[in-house]
Amino acid sequence: MKKIAIIGAGASGLMAACFAAPRAKVTIFEKQKMPGRKILATGNGRCNISNRNISADFYHGKNPAFVNNVFGSFGLEATEEFFSTIGIPFAEGKDGRLFPASFQASAVQKLLVFEAQKRGAEILLHRRIDKIVPQKEGLLLITAGQEQYHFDAVILASGSCAYPQLGGSDSGYTLAASIGHSIQPPVPAIVPLNAYPGVLHRLEGIKWDCALKAISNTTTIASSIGEVLFTSYGLSGPATLDISIAVNRNISLQKEVDIFIDFFPEIPMHNLQSHFATLFSEKGKPLALCLAGIIKERIAEVILSCAGKDPFSEAQCLKKEELPELVGFFKNFRSNPGPARPFSEAMVASGGVSTDEIHPSTMESKILPGLYITGELLDITGTSGGFNLQFAWSTGAIAGMNA
Ligand SMILES: Cc1cc2nc3c(=O)[nH]c(=O)nc-3n(C[C@H](O)[C@H](O)[C@H](O)COP(=O)(O)OP(=O)(O)OC[C@H]3O[C@@H](n4cnc5c(N)ncnc54)[C@H](O)[C@@H]3O)c2cc1C
Repeated sequence: MKKIAIIGAGASGLMAACFAAPRAKVTIFEKQKMPGRKILATGNGRCNISNRNISADFYHGKNPAFVNNVFGSFGLEATEEFFSTIGIPFAEGKDGRLFPASFQASAVQKLLVFEAQKRGAEILLHRRIDKIVPQKEGLLLITAGQEQYHFDAVILASGSCAYPQLGGSDSGYTLAASIGHSIQPPVPAIVPLNAYPGVLHRLEGIKWDCALKAISNTTTIASSIGEVLFTSYGLSGPATLDISIAVNRNISLQKEVDIFIDFFPEIPMHNLQSHFATLFSEKGKPLALCLAGIIKERIAEVILSCAGKDPFSEAQCLKKEELPELVGFFKNFRSNPGPARPFSEAMVASGGVSTDEIHPSTMESKILPGLYITGELLDITGTSGGFNLQFAWSTGAIAGMNA
């Protein structure tokens, strides 16, 4: 019987095991004390397992179209069918987000481990693979403890360096590079952003629905609408996480990026101007207080100060011709992202093994036949919403079937 090794008992590794066993003798090497630790933390413990709207539009990387082939071979329907067979039907949430019907990430981790073992896969814990050595026939794996194992095929499913507290590390990049694969340098993604001017940090703790638009060299590189959480260093919250992949990728390429914040995304500019004009017409009322009924007072105070207005000055003193510029600060507040926040805060890492070097229909390496590479280790990053797990499930299943 063919002997297959899987390096990493994460989302894609466990999925690969389910599809490779029992046809082959499968051994999974996991460096941590338990399999699927990252799965447990997904979706805030609810596991946003996939998304109804899977398409290449939601993926970043040097060649996002790579996902079309992947999902053509093993897409959402096949994923849903597999999970349903192992006892995890999906429930649908906002924006097509899919969850296990129990909304429990622990169920996904437990049932995947159970299924892999039921199909005959063996999981070896506390075993970090440090070397992959190509042999005349097959591949030799060497652990950190210098144990040696020989296999006919190896699936490298060791994930990215994001979230080191749950096992993320450079290990996969090092192993792939040692074989000759090119690595797009990893960048923290789906992560809060350092943002300036520093006066924004006075909004720490406030949540407000905004539209965000990231622009580099006059091109819009990302946009989102939704909740922004203002922090002591800049921006967080779902709308920020959505634009963070493109923002950090551009910063890593030394490109200038501006983030424009619209504090009134539902109100067009000219309507907001007349709205402000009405609110400011009351005699004796301070500027910030005039706005307190339509936006959090601290936001009003900070943005008014940025616009050079004293928030406590009388609104009626504002000249009519000053209004458009002032409203512009609320509709198009310009901020600049700083250096990327650390990988310990990033849900995923963009970058990774170049997809040009992988056969999309099998996940086999074009550089070393018999080696298969899956999941987040590849240079494909999904936006938040279940897209990263779906890529891990699909690539894992394809590698498992083909190894
Ligand atoms: C907090 C958090 C929440 C998330 N929520 C979601 C979500 O709701 N939806 C979504 O789609 N995505 C989510 N993600 C992203 C998603 O979890 C990952 O994209 C996905 O787990 C990647 O799967 P993978 O198999 O490539 O890697 P992983 O799941 O990270 O698995 C890799 C495994 O390999 C092991 N390993 C690494 N190197 C070695 C080695 N040398 N030897 C042995 N073992 C090794 C690691 O310990 C790890 O267990 C979240 C991520 C985080 C951190």
